[in-house]
Amino acid sequence: MSRPLRVAIGGVHIESSTFSPHLSTAGDFEVTRGDALLARYGWLSPAEPWAADVEWVPLVHARALPGGAVTPETYDAWHAEILDGLAAAGPLDGILLDIHGAMSVVGRDDAEGGLVTAIRSLVGPEPFVSAAMDLHGNVSHALFDGCDLLTCYRTAPHVDVWETRERAARNLVDALRRGRRPHKALVHVPILLPGEMTSTRLDPAKALYARVPEIEARDGVIDVAIWIGFAWADEPRCSGAVVATGTDAAATAAAARELGRHFWEARDDFTFVAPTGTMDECLDEALVAVKDPARRPFFISDSGDNPGAGGADDVTFALERMLTRPEIADGSVRAVYASLVDPDAVARVADLPPGSPVSVRVGGRIDPREPGPLPIEGVLEAVADDPDGGRCVSLRVGGLSVFVTSRRMQYRELASYRRLGVEAGTVDLVVVKIGYLEPELFEAAGDWLLALTPGGVDQDLRRLPYERLLRPVFPLDRDFAADLTVVAR
Ligand SMILES: [Zn+2]
Repeated sequence: MSRPLRVAIGGVHIESSTFSPHLSTAGDFEVTRGDALLARYGWLSPAEPWAADVEWVPLVHARALPGGAVTPETYDAWHAEILDGLAAAGPLDGILLDIHGAMSVVGRDDAEGGLVTAIRSLVGPEPFVSAAMDLHGNVSHALFDGCDLLTCYRTAPHVDVWETRERAARNLVDALRRGRRPHKALVHVPILLPGEMTSTRLDPAKALYARVPEIEARDGVIDVAIWIGFAWADEPRCSGAVVATGTDAAATAAAARELGRHFWEARDDFTFVAPTGTMDECLDEALVAVKDPARRPFFISDSGDNPGAGGADDVTFALERMLTRPEIADGSVRAVYASLVDPDAVARVADLPPGSPVSVRVGGRIDPREPGPLPIEGVLEAVADDPDGGRCVSLRVGGLSVFVTSRRMQYRELASYRRLGVEAGTVDLVVVKIGYLEPELFEAAGDWLLALTPGGVDQDLRRLPYERLLRPVFPLDRDFAADLTVVAR
């Protein structure tokens, strides 16, 4: 009688910006092990038929909100735990890596490529390795070489996170049952774009990703995936990429070649997903627009310090510009600023009775760029405990509610605003540290502008001090012929 397949699961999942002064440490991560790790995967409880006759071996999984680079001590502990877990696991047929692909570790390059290389040197060439990734991750040659299957999300905003992990797992199990190592093909596409130009809600990314199911359905192709890559790390691996995997070598290479070429040919069509401007230009337009009920609530993305991409979450630039506006100061415009992380400021005011006057400096401690910690003279409006932000307060200044959190978080869901007593759909203006609007906010918005504000994830890539990217890369470089060589294994 044959024994069931044995597949180990683990990984470290974070997108980290080397341009953000924030450092990601163990406290920023949610870590699961054992049954709690396996409980992450819906296809295991109860096990889907394809997953039932497999022994799933949990290693360790750590995930965090995007942030600054991970400190080496933090990363090394999980790297060692994954390898120790594999060493202790006994014979394995497969390994599922549940990773992002844009983790920067201070002083190192290509963290995920290094992980899979270390795994290979421990387990040898036999087990099949499948990686489930974010499309904002990067595919280095080391990562490609170490994996047998690699795939990523097909939507941004990401609404197919769990389908992607299941597909990576299922393709792994299917390949193991066939007993033949998949063919694979990689094309690096020398394009580096902000996520805010590549939403799959809009062309050209929509049309590009729409080709995935069609190509994947061809005979001999298992999976095709398109990585937009990660623009906020100064590492040579950061670039667009296409990977195809399949049972037929020629069909697999053709799929990667075709999709890589499509990506490259679309390069001039990528534009920001919303009209953009400086913070002042966005406020000028918003303060006129809010007189029209159809354009309320008006949203402005404070995109340069978006914690969802790795920003420090405490740059005060956009808030300072809001506070200069008389319509907001005198309360004739009802506005929300969401949010700044500042645990010290929260601790100083959160125990006061609601309605107390407060005078406190907020933000500017992690990312000290201008204008730095900002004095707020207002009233304590609300205190709440948030599952993501920890203890949070709302400080009222004129018509403006300023949200301050104890942990970095992103106000991407209406329920988070409600915890601090604000029904975001009924105010005039919401300024939020985000890039493209996540689905609930997108639905709620009467209108929307993307402010190109300063911060660790500045959307204007020309302002970032790259030194180590592979050049040429579009759009930092133009007028060059791309090398779209297919690397096939
Ligand atoms: Zn992403």
